[in-house]
Amino acid sequence: MNDQAERPVYMDHAATTCMKPEVLAAMAPYFSEHFGNPSSLYRFSRGSREGVEGARGEVAKALGAKPEEVFFTAGGTESDNWAIKGVAAAAKKKGGHIVTSAVEHHAVLHTCEWLAKQGFSVTYLPVDGYGRVDPGDVENAITDRTVLVSVMTANNEIGTVQPIGEIGRIAHDHGVLFHTDAVQAIGAVPIDVAAMEIDLLSLSGHKFYGPKGTGALYIRQGTRIESLIHGGGQERGRRAGTENVPGIVGLGRAIEVATADIEGHNRRIAAMRDRLIRGVLDTIPDTRLNGHPTERLANNANFSFRYVEGESILLLLDAHGICASTGSACSSGSPEPSHVLLATGLTPEEAHGSLRLTLGDVNTADDIDYVLRLLPETIGRLRRISPLTPAEKRVQEAD
Ligand SMILES: *Cc1c(COP(=O)(O)O)cnc(C)c1O
Repeated sequence: MNDQAERPVYMDHAATTCMKPEVLAAMAPYFSEHFGNPSSLYRFSRGSREGVEGARGEVAKALGAKPEEVFFTAGGTESDNWAIKGVAAAAKKKGGHIVTSAVEHHAVLHTCEWLAKQGFSVTYLPVDGYGRVDPGDVENAITDRTVLVSVMTANNEIGTVQPIGEIGRIAHDHGVLFHTDAVQAIGAVPIDVAAMEIDLLSLSGHKFYGPKGTGALYIRQGTRIESLIHGGGQERGRRAGTENVPGIVGLGRAIEVATADIEGHNRRIAAMRDRLIRGVLDTIPDTRLNGHPTERLANNANFSFRYVEGESILLLLDAHGICASTGSACSSGSPEPSHVLLATGLTPEEAHGSLRLTLGDVNTADDIDYVLRLLPETIGRLRRISPLTPAEKRVQEAD
């Protein structure tokens, strides 16, 4: 068996995805033929303008929104920043309190930390052992100064899906706006902004087989929000800068493909994921599955292996052509254990020994077999040399 796989076994779809050929094909003419500035008045620019507006329609359709409620951005990070800073700035007079959760992406958490330095107050809701927010805690955290509740739809590290419909209803019962970071959820969790009582929703193209550096923010009509990027009058005066026309067209095509058959897609991916989870838990002792057993993204498997370091697992897997991640991609390289795993009650040691495998359309049953063959011996090898492994376990692992 060739140790270095010819093609990498890519299991890091929560970090980014490979663009689909049909997305690339949809984008291509907008780099050349249709290069006009969508804001220009001559007929030639009509092609670009129609490309952008077609994509806006696709995003709106995927969310159950109106096209006028969709604003294109440069990605999930910008959308999160805009939603939170924009609402905070517009509501400064009413109050300065934001409710969010301890397991949000850094694009939300670091934005809230920055606002706290500007004088806003922030409540970080705890989660249970599976990473779920209790809607009752949202209700208890809201005060008469609260201007925004921001809870993600699905977690990027452990895949836990939040009860956002309930959280949206509670926010609205108290007259508070509700934002959700749905970056991991598009194409995996059916979204209906009306039924889920969502006022603002962030999404990012490269997480669902679209281009990097593209995203959108859904803003419910009538929502009071300041702009983040000032300049020209693009995006109906709310997000300045000449539109990334090819990127927007790609985002539109990608969301159309990703949401065409969410159920079928989830069924296929979850079957592989479940075999992976069962195989790992059955063959590797002292292992736990992180995240919720059922309320989780179809593509997410996150484990903690006792006595080993996640970074060492990644290096050994990489030598065999397997792409995976530990903690969140943004924090790898930093010695901090994952804030998400700590929030679910793991010790720093358990959090350090985590491995995230996130599946996607490119994965096959062979990929699962390959990982199930390599992972037990990889963990066994690391445990035999780990100073954290108790002596009696080391013997056992060597058997
Ligand atoms: C990837 C990700 C982001 C950031 O999106 P970018 O488009 O990479 O800026 C934000 N939130 C979540 C949950 C993510 O997974």
